Amino acid sequence: MKVGINGIGIGGPTLAWWLRQYGHEPVLFERAPQLRTEGFVVDFWGLGYAVAERMGLIDQLRAKGSEMKQLTFVDSDGHELAHLDTDQIRAQWDDRFITVSRGAICQTLFEACGDVRAEFGTHIVGVEEQPDGVQATLSDGRTETFDAIVGADGLHSAIREMVFGPEEQFEVFMDCYVAAWRASAYPHHDPERYVAHSIPNRWAARIERYDGVTIFLCIFRASLVDGDPAHGEVRDVLRRVYADVGWEVPEMLAHLDDGPVYFDRVSQIRMPTWSKGRVGLLGDAAACASLLAGEGTGLAMTEAYVLAGELHRAQGDVELAFRRYHDKLGGFLAHEQRGVSVVRSFFAPTTKAGVWARNLLTRASTLPGLTRLAAAQTVPSFELEDYTSG
Ligand SMILES: Cc1cc2nc3c(=O)[nH]c(=O)nc-3n(C[C@H](O)[C@H](O)[C@H](O)COP(=O)(O)OP(=O)(O)OC[C@H]3O[C@@H](n4cnc5c(N)ncnc54)[C@H](O)[C@@H]3O)c2cc1C
Repeated sequence: MKVGINGIGIGGPTLAWWLRQYGHEPVLFERAPQLRTEGFVVDFWGLGYAVAERMGLIDQLRAKGSEMKQLTFVDSDGHELAHLDTDQIRAQWDDRFITVSRGAICQTLFEACGDVRAEFGTHIVGVEEQPDGVQATLSDGRTETFDAIVGADGLHSAIREMVFGPEEQFEVFMDCYVAAWRASAYPHHDPERYVAHSIPNRWAARIERYDGVTIFLCIFRASLVDGDPAHGEVRDVLRRVYADVGWEVPEMLAHLDDGPVYFDRVSQIRMPTWSKGRVGLLGDAAACASLLAGEGTGLAMTEAYVLAGELHRAQGDVELAFRRYHDKLGGFLAHEQRGVSVVRSFFAPTTKAGVWARNLLTRASTLPGLTRLAAAQTVPSFELEDYTSG
C-alpha cells in the first residue's frame, strides 16, 4: 500500500516507520525546507514512551534527554516559592519517563525512517478521490496517486482544511498563546530543574537541554493582546507583554533574536470523525489536546501506531482502517482533551489568589501520598495492540 503523508513532525515519521515495518510504501512531504527541530522540551512517558520502546528508539532518546528532578516556582527575585519533585511520578512509571526536546524526538523519529522517500519544501496542496486511489497535487505542480493520504500536518492542518473545511469549525481556543525559543550560552545553569515564574495571566519558564542549550517557554492569556499576533510581530508582542515581569525575564527576552521563535495559539481540535474516503488525519491535525495536556507528542505517536496497524490489518480497505482507527482512539482522545481546562489554571491563573492557590497546591503535592495519587491519575486507559501478525 502506498501512503502519502503530509507533515514531518512527530506523527508523520512515526506512521511512516510503522508502515515501512509492515512492508508498505510511505512517502513523506514537509512544507518547511528542512526538519523543524525548534520548540520546547516535553515530558516523554506513557504511551509515547511505549511506542518508542517498540521502535527500539529509547536509548537514542535517553541520550538526548535528561532526568528533570524538580519543577521550581520562583518569585520576581528568583527566590523559591514552591517546588514539585518528580521522583514519585518517575517511580510510578518504573522510570520510563524522560524530559527531552520536541526537536530531538522529531529528529530521532525521522532518522529512524532511513531511506523512506521524504520531500522537504514540497507539500500536498490538493486531493482528489479517484476510483482506485486518491490523487495528490503537490506544491511544485506534480501529481501523484496513493492508496491513502494522511494529514500529519499539525494544529493548522492544510489537509483538514482541504477535506473538511475551515479550522474555526473544529478549533477550541484555550484563551492562551505559547512561545518557545532558546539560548546557547545562557548564564544560569540548572540542568536538573525546570524553573518557572508566574504572575496572573503570564508564565515564563526555562529548562536546560542535555547539550547545555537553554530553552524558554512563555504562556500568556489572550486578553493581554488585541487579536491574533501576526507572524512577523511575535517578538515585539512578547517584549510588550512581558515588559514588566521580573526574575530573569528581561534576560530571556534578550535572546529572542538568537534563532527561531515557536509561537502559536493554544488550541484543541475536536472533530466528529478523522477521515473522509481515502484521506485521514493524525496527531494535532485530528485531535490536538493542546500543549497544556503535556502529551501531544506521545498522543501523536500513539495515533500513528494504531493507524499504521489498522491500515496494515485492513488489507487495502482504507476506509475500514480509518473507521477502526477512530473507533479505537476517538473516545480516549476526547477524554484527554476534557482534562485540560484544569491544567490551564495551573499554567496561567488569572488572579493573584489563583497563583497563590496553585503554589500552595504544588507545595502540598510534595507530601508523599499525594504525589503518588496524582501520578496514578495520569495512567492512560488505552492498551497498545500488537499488529505484527496482521
Ligand atoms: C516547530 C514546532 C515546535 C513546537 N513546539 C512545541 C512546544 O514548545 N511545546 C508544545 O507543547 N508543543 C509544541 N509543538 C506542538 C507539539 O510538538 C505537537 O503537539 C506534537 O508534536 C504533535 O505532533 P504532530 O506530528 O501532530 O504535529 P507537529 O509536530 O506539529 O508536526 C506537523 C508538521 O507538519 C508540518 N506542516 C505544517 N503545515 C504543513 C503543510 N501544509 N504541508 C506539509 N507540512 C506541513 C509542520 O512544519 C510540522 O513539521 C510544536 C510543534 C512544532 C511544529
